[in-house]
Amino acid sequence: MYWSNSSHPSLRIDRFPAPEEDLLTQVETFVSGMRDEAPVVLGYPGNLDFSFSHLAGLLDIFVNNVGDPGSQETSAVSAKHMERAVVEFMAELANADPAAIYGYVTAGGSEANLFGLDRGCALLPDAAIYCSADAHYSIRKSARLMRRELVVVNSDRYGSMDVAQLHQLCRRARGRGAVVLATVGTTMTGASDDVAAIAEAATAAGEVYVHVDAALNGLIIPFTEERDRWGFAHPSVGSLAVSMHKALGMPVACAVALCRSEMVQTRVEGEYISATDATLSCSRSGLASVLLWYALARKGAAGLARNAWRALDMARYAVDRLQQVGTNPWLNPLSIVVVFDRPAEWVCRRFHLATDGSYAHLVTVGHVTTDVIDELCDALAADAESRRLAAPGRR
Ligand SMILES: *Cc1c(COP(=O)(O)O)cnc(C)c1O
Repeated sequence: MYWSNSSHPSLRIDRFPAPEEDLLTQVETFVSGMRDEAPVVLGYPGNLDFSFSHLAGLLDIFVNNVGDPGSQETSAVSAKHMERAVVEFMAELANADPAAIYGYVTAGGSEANLFGLDRGCALLPDAAIYCSADAHYSIRKSARLMRRELVVVNSDRYGSMDVAQLHQLCRRARGRGAVVLATVGTTMTGASDDVAAIAEAATAAGEVYVHVDAALNGLIIPFTEERDRWGFAHPSVGSLAVSMHKALGMPVACAVALCRSEMVQTRVEGEYISATDATLSCSRSGLASVLLWYALARKGAAGLARNAWRALDMARYAVDRLQQVGTNPWLNPLSIVVVFDRPAEWVCRRFHLATDGSYAHLVTVGHVTTDVIDELCDALAADAESRRLAAPGRR
């Protein structure tokens, strides 16, 4: 890992072309290193179980989805027809009528959240943005970019927003309205905010716009008992974000931003591309749209449901095993993030665990197997044993 701005000497880009063999060796070494490590990456939500190399032809064409997925443009290098199919499918999973939804494939969950929050802020120009202390750190960046006041509401010990405090804070903002970010699957503890309760509590400020950050759990919740209640099923929800490189698994970072069409009136005309453009960027990865369309269509809703159930079952398996080795694991409802006592540093490093203060977590996305969880638990047991033996006063 490199911590400085200067590159490794063997990677320096020179004045003259480098020998092709050397470059290929560098890339192959990189690929095999990543592959070797993938099975033990437990702490991060990107599903690494996928293969797209049979679609390598995509690497020899340029695919750029400039402007709205629904708009024509003159470049002839777009895959917007596939992007629209992705948006339609995701809108249905989120309990919306696809005909009433504007959406597009973004560079990641953070852009999709920024898009939704911007729509809420446009609708309610005097409102502050409210989110919980467990909301994703990029929400601060978004609020800063929009020069909008951000009010951070406490969360409870499991990571869900304290709705009573939200209500108190909104009472002090009577008449201004409220743009509330509700998280469905927090990054650290997998907690879901109660969207109905949030919408109700925030009415103390006046009109309410809820943006749902389902970056983590947007492809899990639609396959649980919450399926009919979540997302756009609630009338206060104006927009929603789902990261696609997490539960699904993708070779490129991407997400889907969805928004009720009536919130997207500010249609910017990109004169140069002769397409309408309400997105936050100009050029967008068409490669991501093609791969997403392919991955979703190949699994279908049934395959995605199996993925989600496997992840939820695997999380319960991890809780059982971690319990046996005395690390106090716990799991929020409908969550794939297993939280437990922070282990020794070498264990965190070997299994790429995410840590926060006194706890660590693992996320049971597709590449996480019972074997690796067992391996982790063996390491935790061995570490506990060596500490017991080393403890002073033992004799
Ligand atoms: C991962 C995540 C994000 C950010 O999404 P990226 O796709 O990594 O930009 C936002 N919110 C939550 C809850 C997340 O888990």
